[in-house]
Amino acid sequence: MKPFSPSSNKAVASDPPRDHNRPMVLLVDDDVSSLIMAEGPLEDAGIQVVQANDGVEAIAQFKKHQPDLVIMDAVMPNMDGFEAIAQIRQTELGSHVPILMTTGLDDLDSITRAYDEGATDFLTKPINFFILPYRVQYMLRSKDTADELRSSQSRLDNAQRIARLGHWEWDIASDTATWSLEIARMFGFDNRLLYGSMESLFSKVDPSCRKEVRQNTELAVESANSITLEFDIFGRHESDIRFVRLEAEPKLDSNGNCTHMLGTVQDITESAHAQKHIHDLAYYDLVTGLPNRAQLRENLSQILHWSERQENQFALLFLDLDHFKQVNDSLGHDAGDELLKQVSERLAAVLRESDTLSFPEGEHADNSESNDTVARIGGDEFVVLLGCINRPEDAARVAERIAESVREPYLLADVEVTVTTTIGISVYPEDGRDSESLMKHADVAMYHAKENGRNGYQFYSTDIHEHALSRFSMERELKHAITEQGLTLLYQPKLDVLTGRTVGVESLVRWNHPERGEIAPADFIPLAEETGLIMPLGRWVLNEAARQVQEWKTQGLGVFSIAVNCSPVQFTQGNMIRDIEDAIINNNIDPNLLEIELTENLFLHNIENGIELLNNLKELGVQIALDGFGTGISSLSYLKRLPVDKIKIDRTFVKELHHDKGDEAIVSAIVTLGHRLNLSIVAEGIENLEQLNILRKLNCNEVQGYYFSYPLSHSDFTQWLEDQEDPPAKTGTG
Ligand code: C2E
Ligand code: MG
Repeated sequence: MKPFSPSSNKAVASDPPRDHNRPMVLLVDDDVSSLIMAEGPLEDAGIQVVQANDGVEAIAQFKKHQPDLVIMDAVMPNMDGFEAIAQIRQTELGSHVPILMTTGLDDLDSITRAYDEGATDFLTKPINFFILPYRVQYMLRSKDTADELRSSQSRLDNAQRIARLGHWEWDIASDTATWSLEIARMFGFDNRLLYGSMESLFSKVDPSCRKEVRQNTELAVESANSITLEFDIFGRHESDIRFVRLEAEPKLDSNGNCTHMLGTVQDITESAHAQKHIHDLAYYDLVTGLPNRAQLRENLSQILHWSERQENQFALLFLDLDHFKQVNDSLGHDAGDELLKQVSERLAAVLRESDTLSFPEGEHADNSESNDTVARIGGDEFVVLLGCINRPEDAARVAERIAESVREPYLLADVEVTVTTTIGISVYPEDGRDSESLMKHADVAMYHAKENGRNGYQFYSTDIHEHALSRFSMERELKHAITEQGLTLLYQPKLDVLTGRTVGVESLVRWNHPERGEIAPADFIPLAEETGLIMPLGRWVLNEAARQVQEWKTQGLGVFSIAVNCSPVQFTQGNMIRDIEDAIINNNIDPNLLEIELTENLFLHNIENGIELLNNLKELGVQIALDGFGTGISSLSYLKRLPVDKIKIDRTFVKELHHDKGDEAIVSAIVTLGHRLNLSIVAEGIENLEQLNILRKLNCNEVQGYYFSYPLSHSDFTQWLEDQEDPPAKTGTG
């Protein structure tokens, strides 16, 4: 039977209106006398009281009045106090309200259960009603403090959310990190998980800089220093990328050791975007998207700084479009803008290719990273910076490419338009060591070029201009000579010092220039090396020599080796092993008939690499000769490690051999050492009988020089072979 409940109507019906100046307590008890006994002292203490007789009623009253505290009896009909507390706790307002549980039960299980369900404190019956108001007031004061704390925490969370700023703390000893709600939001963590290891924070950093961020943070701990870092993090999804600034400072113990790191993380994505946008507006041209004059000034000062330190040359190209005004006037400004856009795209494309301008594919004279830039500095004026040029001709080459590319027709509003450009070039450091003079001089050069007829380029300094032009045209002619049979080989015989028989031949390249006649290698090999043309040139020589020696062999004129001079550049920048292999296979020759002459320069930078190269060469079966021996590093200690077959004593030692006892001693030492190492010794540059006699006395193996024969043309050398009484057979000279 349901117990009589006189107050069940009364409690709800007669509730007074809420007085917001007084705290309110919800008294819940099925015992009416307890309610009455408690109400008086509470009211006297200035506390407003509302009542309920069971759990169900308590929840209704709680929702209706939102009291500041609940005094809840444990055992009641309908719904007991434990269940009522649990339900109140689940409501939003009830999660923090203090609940004092009263009961006649003082067994430990009930107390534990009350706390488990969420009771704040516990009071056993019989209740001392005089003390009760004090207890209640104490709990209300604690509630106020907790409310204050919660609200300041929530204010902080809100402030952090608005500022997109979170804080974190790292306890170094236990490697535990705690962080604020905003950090959880930024890093895409669960809102309820506000702690973890520092590594869980690092795991959200963009992998490309994660290691650096971790190292810098750890370094700050070790050195007890503050740090500021900026980096990208990934939020909940890979696509949720945020740019953040982390600031941290150490907390030290009394010994000065860092025990904690305190820090903040601020999401600065938007401000970084805004900053970039402002920067772009200030430093980039709106029409073409190219750097403007201000950005150019910065780039230029950087290149200047860099080139000064590296002692590099660089070039500044000042471009002006010829007759741009006419396009603007006749087709309108939109068409003019469109033209500028297309021109800037072409300039960028030329610069991308400029690295490989003169070199056959994959054959670079210089592997340095390009730092070239284009800028638009006025209506129809552009500036191109060519960082790190090897020589002024490089700038001339790019200028020519630019002029060629700009000259191609444009389609503007369905009209085909052609424009040309005139280019002035200044070169650092010759034409100026600061931005202003380089700009001014390139500008002056551009005006000169315009005066000399538009659509061309001009260097500021006439010396550079002429030199560059002549080198540039020579480079072009040499390139042409390589592909169009403008080169020939001469052949100089090598003789056995004792028998006088021809035992080999050295091939020596010549350039038959259409105007300048025969050009000696000293006048074009360095250029070929600088420009990378040595690679195709070397391939031509190798093939021609291999072809020729095979031809003499099939003609029955003898079986002997042909020596081919090779530049170190061919080894370091080309694929020499493959080239030699190709020459052997294509001409179907015995590899032993090919003798590769190389100089000690090959070992100048890295002896180990050089030795490895020679071993690879040796595997092909060719012979190897060290040319010009005695003039280079000539380290005798490494000679024994080189898999070479021959040493060619440089002709400077042979030249004065018959006058200079010192030279004789040197040659004698080289021969003795060479023979000890089982090497064959060749002397070159023999011009008279006295030199020959000394070399014979010193036991030299082979001789070569004007005394026997000048380098001969193909037909003259064929004749030489035919004149031999005894055709050269490849005997044990190699
Ligand atoms: P090198 O290998 O020391 O070649 C010998 C040079 O001495 C040749 O000059 C030759 O004409 C010259 N010579 C020969 N006998 C005598 C003599 O009795 N007296 C004097 N004064 N000179 C003599 P050349 O043909 O002008 O070649 C010069 C250098 O050019 C060569 O020196 C070689 O290093 C290089 N060279 C020649 N052909 C090629 C080639 O096809 N490729 C490469 N990379 N370099 C080559
Ligand atoms: Mg040689």
